[in-house]
Amino acid sequence: MPINKRFQGTVGIKNIGKLVSGDFHKGILPADSVLIKDGIIADIGTGLDFHAADHVIDVNGMVVCPGFIDPHVHNTVDDYGPMTQTVNWMECYLWYGITTILSEGEQGPGYPRFFDDPLGAKATAIFAKRVFNNFRPGGFMKFHGGAVVLQKGMVEQDFKEMADAGVWLVAEIGGGGAYLPEDVLPMIEWAKKYGFKVSTHIGPSSIPGSSPVFADIALAHNPHKYAHINGGSVAAPWADIKRILDERDPQSYVEFVYVGNQKMADRITRYMAEKGQLDKIVFGSDTPTGQGANPNCIQRMAMRMAAFDDVPPEQAIAMGTGNTADLFGLNTGKIEVGREADILAIDVGQDAVGQDALEAMTMDDTFGVAMVMVDGQVVSLKGRDGRPTRRYIAIDGETTMIDNINEYLFGPYHPGYLR
Ligand SMILES: [Zn+2]
Repeated sequence: MPINKRFQGTVGIKNIGKLVSGDFHKGILPADSVLIKDGIIADIGTGLDFHAADHVIDVNGMVVCPGFIDPHVHNTVDDYGPMTQTVNWMECYLWYGITTILSEGEQGPGYPRFFDDPLGAKATAIFAKRVFNNFRPGGFMKFHGGAVVLQKGMVEQDFKEMADAGVWLVAEIGGGGAYLPEDVLPMIEWAKKYGFKVSTHIGPSSIPGSSPVFADIALAHNPHKYAHINGGSVAAPWADIKRILDERDPQSYVEFVYVGNQKMADRITRYMAEKGQLDKIVFGSDTPTGQGANPNCIQRMAMRMAAFDDVPPEQAIAMGTGNTADLFGLNTGKIEVGREADILAIDVGQDAVGQDALEAMTMDDTFGVAMVMVDGQVVSLKGRDGRPTRRYIAIDGETTMIDNINEYLFGPYHPGYLR
């Protein structure tokens, strides 16, 4: 059944097996139904009465959780990955359940990132912000573009102008452009004054133009996010990382990236657990530049945490949803009244071991996606080539499933059908 109608009014989600809040401290909510009104979560409870709802989605006992957030991509100003020459990678991420992405700085042919050009860097950030205000990849993805790359010569007025234009992200410092404290500390101060969120690249340089940033420089930056603290893709020495973990502002966040060093991520997780700071871990992809893209990247990070680091799966999901929303002040990433209804139904794979997606995660089995919802609209029933789920959703009493191999792998759920 093609999903070819936009829901109007109220939408009820019922028969939820486990409702994962995305809030690290709340974990699984004691509820089995969610009511959505005009794209916003309006009620959460057990056995909510949906007789008056305009549409009802039966998730048939599956796990429901918030849409995932990827806070680390190096994008162009369209849906193109120049390194791998892939198109529609953002749309692909959306269909796998990543409903929100944040830029770490735009770059592409003709507008290189690593230039000593403060005017060009400012213009690129404002332009990208404008583009993604008007462009939602796959028709629905929330893409926060326009992260400014700091350049020598920027003055306070530049940050005021960018903030007035809606720019609020500083691209990872050290990923290109100025990064030495004597050059960037005044800029970081201006950025914070005008409400920007600041990110610092951690570890060895990744590619030409990026810089080695270890504890001395990173701690001087005092960023909101220590980006790819497990290396992007090669990690810093443990002693250096431990210093960051010990001396950073405890309100700051540390990020693991999918293409980073997983052994180091495990070690950091154990240390953060001892400190009681797992609610300050977030996941990023560092794609499509940065050693390749994978639309399952944030989800895989959560599975690894649950399978290998003894993090309860609902808290591992929070590291890819609610923790990130807290870091950036986004009104998504949690199942909570008043939040944007960006919601997934996920399930154990067909014929796989385990009763539901959370059990699958603890075994490092990839879960499948049976529904991606953005702002209360169903936008996908699966990722391209995603794992088939054991269960399916039903919309207004009609089961939505795909049993044709060609449909399964390649479509026809083009976003054109969804508008
Ligand atoms: Zn980086």
